[in-house]
Amino acid sequence: MKRILPARFCFSPISTKHSKIHQSCARFNSIIFCFSRVKAGRRKFLRKLIYSLAKTFPMKKALKIEIVRHSLAHILAAAVYEMFPDARFGIGPEIENGFYYDFDLPRTLIPEDLEILEEKMRRLITENHKFEKAEIPIPKILKKLKSLKQPYKIELVKEIQKENLKIKTVSVFKTSHFIDLCSGPHVDSTGEINPKSFKLTKISGAYWKGNEKNKMLQRIYGVAFATEKELEKYLEMIAEAEKRDHRKLGKELDLFCFSNLVGPGLPLFTPKGTIIIDELQKYVEAVCRKHGFEKVSTPHLAKIDLFEKSGHKQKFGEELFHVKSHHKQDYVLKPVQCPHQTQIYASKIRSYRDLPIRYMESNKQYRDEKPGEISGLSRVIAITVEDGHSFCRLDQVKNELEVMIKIIRDFYEALGLWGKHWVSLSVRDPKHPEKYIGDKKDWDLCENMLKEVSDTMKLGAQKREGEAALYGPKLDFMFRDALGKEIQIPTVQLDFATAKRFNLSYIDKDGKEKNPVMVHRAILGSYERFLVLLIEHFAGAFPLWLSPVQVEVIPVSEKFEKYAKEVLKKMTDNDIRATMNPADESLGKRIRNAQNQKINYMLIVGEKEKKAKSVAVRDREKGDLGAMKIEKFLEKIQKEIKDKS
Ligand SMILES: [Zn+2]
Ligand SMILES: [Zn+2]
Repeated sequence: MKRILPARFCFSPISTKHSKIHQSCARFNSIIFCFSRVKAGRRKFLRKLIYSLAKTFPMKKALKIEIVRHSLAHILAAAVYEMFPDARFGIGPEIENGFYYDFDLPRTLIPEDLEILEEKMRRLITENHKFEKAEIPIPKILKKLKSLKQPYKIELVKEIQKENLKIKTVSVFKTSHFIDLCSGPHVDSTGEINPKSFKLTKISGAYWKGNEKNKMLQRIYGVAFATEKELEKYLEMIAEAEKRDHRKLGKELDLFCFSNLVGPGLPLFTPKGTIIIDELQKYVEAVCRKHGFEKVSTPHLAKIDLFEKSGHKQKFGEELFHVKSHHKQDYVLKPVQCPHQTQIYASKIRSYRDLPIRYMESNKQYRDEKPGEISGLSRVIAITVEDGHSFCRLDQVKNELEVMIKIIRDFYEALGLWGKHWVSLSVRDPKHPEKYIGDKKDWDLCENMLKEVSDTMKLGAQKREGEAALYGPKLDFMFRDALGKEIQIPTVQLDFATAKRFNLSYIDKDGKEKNPVMVHRAILGSYERFLVLLIEHFAGAFPLWLSPVQVEVIPVSEKFEKYAKEVLKKMTDNDIRATMNPADESLGKRIRNAQNQKINYMLIVGEKEKKAKSVAVRDREKGDLGAMKIEKFLEKIQKEIKDKS
């Protein structure tokens, strides 16, 4: 969420970024000012200020699309009311690219309903109904809503009343036969809307007010643009993103699955998915080893004391998993890797000459996520994290930061992902120093150092206040998934606090005991989230070195299966990940299958190839490459794997 400075509130266009619209939020043009973090006493004043601004500077013409989107939400509700006279209405704001409305309906909606509703909406638009505004005294509207059996709206009115006792009336808008509680703004009449430039896109469940303790309502999403052409362009983009969706491709390419019996948010990686993870791990460890990292391994759980000392118990609160033991001592599943690794450092006396000490580890960590927030591999409970730490002297920090950034650059360059990111210099929220641990002096030093290194390494980092970690500022490398949603993956974090908390020390040149500085770094971060980026970026067509199946041998007919097996053996003997598809189906169909499975090379063998001890090579992208001796093909593919090309 973007933060406005220096006041204690954030603002955000009504978008997915601001998924929760609080009752206390105020709206100015298309911007919602969120006061959820503001002291209750100051909220009223700020809300008043925003409203007076909104009156003085009315909506500009350029922002009209937001009005159209919000008006469409009303029209959708009117259409739903026609279809289900018993419908109970929740809320219906505009969002990025469109709008939604939440309903409590007598039956579950099916996709076909969207077409019927769209038709009804188009009819309402062409009938050109006015949006008629009325100010109604609160007791009267409550009575009316009661007679209409609208419990959610009644709740909203009561909240408005509770927030400001002076409010005596609420504004309602009537469109056709549908009346809705709303302060606007809307189009003057439905006829102003282009009936061809919107579309209802999906139905999903949504808890009333986003609270899982409340009833689950049905949410209908729609998208809307100024022109039909813009709508088409957007729908094309979405269709492309859906093709790349990691959940869809993960299934089609057999990379991971979920089991109801195991539980949601606990991905199971198949043999193919595991190959990708292993290859990534091997590569990231090889890059880090070159820069002096040593691998360590720590358990999945620890006594709560460890996380109490690190500050994570307080930070993660209900996200911590508690493990009951039969023997007095209870444990928690680790939510992060760092505290465990500090104890390896602490196991020996360290001298200034020993530093920097760099540990790395790929291991699981666990967060008790809310069921509603779990999604594909993007948000999981069991997270496989590639994590590393450097324990160093103050005079070594700058070099350490540079080393970490170099590793990140090398790794992402090899994947062709470098340059597809932007960097956030995530610093403290200056208004909430109590949210962080450590001295102010150390924080100032850390923030300056990160800024300096990001400048010398030309990262073009953008400063974001309030995004720092619990114990220090960081550089976050941000990427986007297929739908354009930001995902933060690599990170480099400075930390003066943890070593002090754990009494980590080294004997300096002058014989005095000093605390080392900790630099936390994640190169590919969580493997799960990294896979989201990777699958969606490559649309499942992984580079050769990462591909679960690099080669498929395809005999043209049964007669050549024996030779195909020989070729296959040659491949697997040389560590090429290869399979053979026997001649049970037509040649064309098997080639298409291999193509759909995004296998890098198909080796087609028949009479000619058998005689010449060769293979007819087909490249996934370039098509037919012609015949090649087996040895020659092996040489070619081994070089490509080695070069990661
Ligand atoms: Zn409205
Ligand atoms: Zn760490």
